[in-house]
Amino acid sequence: MGLLPAPHVHVEKGSIDFNGEEITTTSFERLREIRGNEISMIFQEPMTALNPVMTIGKQIDEIFRYHSQLSPKERTNKSTQLLSDVHLPDPSRILNAYPHELSGGQRQRSMIAMALAMDPKILIADEPTTALDVTTQAQILKLIKEMQEVHKTGVLFITHDFGVVADIADRVAVMQQGEIMEAGRVDEVLNTPKHPYTQSLIAAIPKLKPRTARTRSEETILEAKGINKTFGGGKSFLGFGKSVNAVKAVRKVSFDLRRGETLGIVGESGSGKSTLARCIIRLIQSDAGEILLDGVDLMQLNRNSMRLVRSKIQMVFQDPFASLNPRIKVGDIIAQGPEIQGLTKVEAEGRARELISIVGLDDKAYNRFPHEFSGGQRQRIGIARSLAVKPEILIADEPVSALDVSIQAQILNLLDQIRTQMNLAMIFITHDLRVAAQVCDRLAVMRYGEVVEAGSTSELFASPQHDYTQSLLAAVPGKAWQEGVFTN
Ligand code: ADP
Ligand code: MG
Repeated sequence: MGLLPAPHVHVEKGSIDFNGEEITTTSFERLREIRGNEISMIFQEPMTALNPVMTIGKQIDEIFRYHSQLSPKERTNKSTQLLSDVHLPDPSRILNAYPHELSGGQRQRSMIAMALAMDPKILIADEPTTALDVTTQAQILKLIKEMQEVHKTGVLFITHDFGVVADIADRVAVMQQGEIMEAGRVDEVLNTPKHPYTQSLIAAIPKLKPRTARTRSEETILEAKGINKTFGGGKSFLGFGKSVNAVKAVRKVSFDLRRGETLGIVGESGSGKSTLARCIIRLIQSDAGEILLDGVDLMQLNRNSMRLVRSKIQMVFQDPFASLNPRIKVGDIIAQGPEIQGLTKVEAEGRARELISIVGLDDKAYNRFPHEFSGGQRQRIGIARSLAVKPEILIADEPVSALDVSIQAQILNLLDQIRTQMNLAMIFITHDLRVAAQVCDRLAVMRYGEVVEAGSTSELFASPQHDYTQSLLAAVPGKAWQEGVFTN
């Protein structure tokens, strides 16, 4: 695209032939023309590519103004048509909307509309669905395919997700450290990968086939009854008028958790999963409901008694970096909990070293700082810290969502091993049904703060009852490939 920050960074060697034209050495003006007209690009986060202070209509209009001779009226007509082509509801409203007034999916549709405005020969899509929910992702992939057929566009689709590759691509090239390791027809590469790197990536993909549930223990360790949490919605100033912008994040959620089992909470972003978790460990106060731990209602406990209980329930977060203090040595981070529990410094250090080894880190990790570790290693540190206080329950909130698929598989294995060794009960929160299938015995599906369906993972996958569960399952990328009915 000629978008490297010239003159400091440029293509050193090689050639890019676009329709017979060498574009690595062509002029800046010609590149600009190519970018608007002939090759266009969409990105992972449309918000950064869209101009936040300009309406969508104005932004599309600019493209036509710059690259065509159309009259203002023709431009408006074409813009409206484009938005309706990408199946945006009520195009005239969207034309007048600012990017922040649209959902993630609507923003990505607007980006696609803009990218296709000049009917380009090539569309480069750089992780265009990575930031979207799975059902929205499925719709956007369908849209890109449809547009490709209508406009006969060549699409270069960049993704880290082999499921998405299976759904969208005819051919695939697998890259590692700047090099193409393997390339070929998508069915051949995915079904019979030749390069060890491709093989390892494909082996690491969580299989959609749910695990067989372990026999449920008789012993209920945690029970949640009718948890409710509403944000905002207090009376407006001085208590006049109706309540403002209330978000019912969690509504009447109940579940029980048995010793040694893994309960998955699945749902798309904003469905209330994290809020539920935070209510359980009382990082936030729920509005109603009971949380019974060994029969004691946590909601009734004061700060001090809650502190004692907290070591029984520990949490692991999505972004281990944000939750690890960068100025404290890893060993000390892990030893903190046990020390608060009353272990001596020496005992706590011993516990920390033991956990560093359990989570598969080198003993030298003890004296290093969090920033010296990779994302996967940091997640191991987070897990070690949570386990150091010997909890009975571990709540993991999207613990692998920020990790690459091969690292993801390692962390999932680690969690599973630890769960067995320590007979932990686990609440595993994820938006990815493939991950849920792999680790959870039972699942609760959340939407708009409510549990719409719950049951054993295998039953839920085999015969989902609720429409929403069905649509989530249908939208899992690479489903057809995993089920062996690969047709690309
Ligand atoms: P999930 O973890 O499933 O993505 P969350 O629990 O983070 O969902 O959010 C559920 C809903 O609650 C969302 O609509 C979110 O915007 C809202 N929400 C979460 N935390 C807050 C907060 N501190 N203040 C106001 N609204 C919040
Ligand atoms: Mg969350």
